[in-house]
Amino acid sequence: MDVKLNAEDAAFRDEVRQFIADNLPADIRRRVETGKRLSKDDHVRWQRVLHQKGWIAPHWPVEHGGTGWSPLRRYIFEEELGRAPTPRIIPFGLAMVGPVIMTFGDDRQKAHYLPRILSSEDWWCQGYSEPGAGSDLASLQTRAVADGDDYIVNGQKTWTTMAQHADMIFCLVRTSTAGKPQEGISFLLIDMKSAGIEVRPITTLDGGQEVNEVFFDDVRVPKANLIGGENKGWTYAKFLLGHERANIADVGRSKRELARLEAIASSELSDGRPLLDDPAFRSRLAALEIELMALESVVLRMLGDGTNSGPPGPEASLLKVKGTEIQQKITELLFEAIGPYAAPFVTEALDDGWNEAPIGPDYAAPLAPYYFNWRKASIYGGSNEIQKNIIAKMVLGF
Ligand SMILES: Cc1cc2nc3c(=O)[nH]c(=O)nc-3n(C[C@H](O)[C@H](O)[C@H](O)COP(=O)(O)OP(=O)(O)OC[C@H]3O[C@@H](n4cnc5c(N)ncnc54)[C@H](O)[C@@H]3O)c2cc1C
Repeated sequence: MDVKLNAEDAAFRDEVRQFIADNLPADIRRRVETGKRLSKDDHVRWQRVLHQKGWIAPHWPVEHGGTGWSPLRRYIFEEELGRAPTPRIIPFGLAMVGPVIMTFGDDRQKAHYLPRILSSEDWWCQGYSEPGAGSDLASLQTRAVADGDDYIVNGQKTWTTMAQHADMIFCLVRTSTAGKPQEGISFLLIDMKSAGIEVRPITTLDGGQEVNEVFFDDVRVPKANLIGGENKGWTYAKFLLGHERANIADVGRSKRELARLEAIASSELSDGRPLLDDPAFRSRLAALEIELMALESVVLRMLGDGTNSGPPGPEASLLKVKGTEIQQKITELLFEAIGPYAAPFVTEALDDGWNEAPIGPDYAAPLAPYYFNWRKASIYGGSNEIQKNIIAKMVLGF
């Protein structure tokens, strides 16, 4: 779907498009286009380009470094980033802990952390989940016990995305066992270089190094790193999850992946004719396109008349469910379009410098790991089953 833009917004879209064309480093562009794994340096380099332009945090208030763009312009910007394609902006600092710090943090925390998030000086990770606390997050057990001006933290987090790169982790910790489980949780910012932290990798289905376990053994954390009030962390945690889920819909990127799917389906043959002409395949592709158009129109409707710039509510769960279902369906159709050539599982094909002769067309080699990697989308950020429960309760009123 092409959104009808007025002349000013169309000029803005062209400016963004040109800026990306002129400033996205060629090596990074190539890696994103060919589905290679990106390094920390790739992400940071691109984020710094956007920071220098003043475009790294369009959704932040202007006084903290935002752009002051209308919600529609923010949407156009995100769509152009997805279309280009650029590396995904790492959300943990900019989209997740940043809004929490600026809303609930004290002046010292804002002055210290926000500029470092904007400049990508600090890479953040998210310490919510634990081995016994996923969907039932309130059952988390990692303890923070007061000791003078510090807390002493003990426990374990899991599935911590890119903790191996992180300078800081925002953590939910238990500071009280009195009352309901939600009432004894605090939101703590912890320096990953602190003595007593150990990061252990978890290898994912695609052979990748994306998630980790993080262990805390008598880790000393200054009380000055507590966000808001002690035992009030659940409120901040839920506020953050709304931002996380809204961010996951990623319509621009899905549009690009659909375009890639169409291009592949026009070069793959079925019974001697382009697969794209096969009626059964076409109808599945069309159904997917319609779903994406519907998602886009929901996103645009949520942007409304340009005044809806408050924190995302439970409707973020809807974007999360539909956005990730579409992402997964695209990987499924890609897999089918390429047929047997997509089957070899060559995880090294995702690494830059892999130069074996591919079995089948170039685009086939990274497909199997790519397909497996995207199984995660319906789980992270809170599983889709849980999001459906939230929609039923908070939106439909069941
Ligand atoms: C790739 C990846 C990256 C992640 N990154 C991070 C991160 O950086 N930081 C972080 O803190 N966490 C992270 N997570 C963890 C993620 O938030 C949890 O995996 C998720 O909340 C689900 O928890 P769980 O894995 O413990 O599953 P469980 O809660 O054990 O659920 C197992 C299954 O049961 C279903 N289920 C459970 N309860 C209900 C219910 N009441 N009704 C219906 N169905 C239910 C679930 O939907 C799921 O299908 C990541 C996960 C993945 C896969």
